[in-house]
Amino acid sequence: MCRACPRLVAWREQVAREKIARFADQEYWGRPVPGFGDPHARVLVLGLAPAAHGGNRTGRIFTGDRSGDFLYGSLHANGFANRPTSVSRDDGLRLRGVYMTAVNRCAPPGNRPTPKERDTCLPFLEREIRALGDLRVVVALGAFAWDGAVRALAALGHPARPKPRFGHGAEADVGPIRLLGCYHPSQQNTFTGKLTEPMLEAVLARARSLSGLG
Ligand code: SF4
Repeated sequence: MCRACPRLVAWREQVAREKIARFADQEYWGRPVPGFGDPHARVLVLGLAPAAHGGNRTGRIFTGDRSGDFLYGSLHANGFANRPTSVSRDDGLRLRGVYMTAVNRCAPPGNRPTPKERDTCLPFLEREIRALGDLRVVVALGAFAWDGAVRALAALGHPARPKPRFGHGAEADVGPIRLLGCYHPSQQNTFTGKLTEPMLEAVLARARSLSGLG
């Protein structure tokens, strides 16, 4: 129900009204997209924000777009998911040991929230991290998510000084959490080969190992 970011509220609702041709017969979610996954997760996978015609359409994070296809395929390969695709909220997907969310819960124009919009939404991420009592590892998909995780953990009493630098495969201990960096599975990164399935699967395998899931 949150309407704290006027620009994002206008965008999420405009996209939901106007739609795109291939989803013209669908009812878009058009609201903040909540986190999704195992409440006993040891691994949190953190994105930037829902995609306009992905999560903002389906109501589930990383669901209904190519980034999600790429990501859930790798989660399934690592034993975190019972199926390799995520297409709708009622597709039977179940996650084990992992929870998915994003720094911003509403789709931003151009996939770019402002710093103010990031800060306005961060308390939701802080609450999710606090609620995940078994959490050990955060996989940050891209520099924006890395920065958001560092800020959320600082707000929870775990400041990181000096601030760790994002990179694919970067690792940093922030309080009790091991932060892992991974390039974002955006179409630009996956189409150009900047992020391949083996690269993503290797990061998720590392997260699985670090979290004690075996
Ligand atoms: S991005 Fe977050 S804080 Fe902003 S309107 Fe959406 S849910 Fe609210």
